[in-house]
Amino acid sequence: MSDSRIIDGKAFAEKLRGRVAQQVAALKSKHGFTPGLAVVLVGEDPASKVYVKNKGQQTHESGMNSFEHKLPVTTSQAELLALVDKLNKDQAVNGILVQLPLPKQIDPQAILDAIDPAKDVDGFHVVNAGRLATGGKSLVPCTPLGCLMLLKDRLGDLTGKRAIVVGRSNIVGKPMAQLLLNESCTVTIAHSKTRDLAGECRRADIVVAAVGRPEMVRGDWIAPGAVVIDVGINRVDAGGGKTKLVGDVAYAEALPHAGGITPVPGGVGPMTIACLLANTVTAACRQRGVPVPA
Ligand code: NAP
Repeated sequence: MSDSRIIDGKAFAEKLRGRVAQQVAALKSKHGFTPGLAVVLVGEDPASKVYVKNKGQQTHESGMNSFEHKLPVTTSQAELLALVDKLNKDQAVNGILVQLPLPKQIDPQAILDAIDPAKDVDGFHVVNAGRLATGGKSLVPCTPLGCLMLLKDRLGDLTGKRAIVVGRSNIVGKPMAQLLLNESCTVTIAHSKTRDLAGECRRADIVVAAVGRPEMVRGDWIAPGAVVIDVGINRVDAGGGKTKLVGDVAYAEALPHAGGITPVPGGVGPMTIACLLANTVTAACRQRGVPVPA
């Protein structure tokens, strides 16, 4: 990736993981504890299995304790709630992540609501969403947190920038908009009912696309020099019986317009697990009453 417009999320995530590993080592030597992350997988969803494996591996590599709980697809909501309760009470567990999606018989909201907000390293609990919105000490959802780090690394101070977030999901769009607002951006949140989406994007210095529609954001929607963060992960037909991953932005079209742009893969994706590790360190430090590393 020699083109300076390309924002290399893979390299940034590697640096962040290295920093987390140093912080974990310092917590062990100075404060005598090792942060622990519990990841719960229910069922056999192939993509979820890969995510959980990667999370466990990277948690180990950072020097933290990783606790993996694999439950059968037939697990009841009561059984999963009982496990969450046990993890909430376990002092060795500082972060809890229940991999979504869950099987039909389980209400995901009931599970997310049951996780102790202090251990909610995904940042999906309403207490953390509320704190993010009202300026309190929250745990921030990992994907938007990763996007913000990439934006600040590229642009420095974001004050006064015009930002558009396309997508308003609870896990990406809304927290992303909130983070940008907290950085004093002027934020537009677009969604499926937005009129003149192209025109809204053209006014923005920062475009974050979190839609789940392959290459929906076209090149001529990007203002000259705008920075584009593509959260989308879409698997599409690549011909010859093969598939490939593309983002929500038509990358080749957008690159000549953009001042910076994340590729898919290799942009936002790798940041998510790195931020999960960073959130686990943050959660562990707060629980132990020791300063959270910068
Ligand atoms: P989601 O819950 O399906 O939300 C999609 C959002 O896009 C909704 O707010 C929807 O609007 C909006 N939208 C749909 N069609 C639109 C259109 N034609 N014009 C404008 N807005 C439109 O998706 P999500 O969970 O936020 O995920 C979004 C994408 O990010 C997916 O590709 C997902 O795979 C990816 N993702 C990546 C990571 C990562 O680690 N890189 C993490 C999470 C998600 P309405 O609200 O009006 O329906």
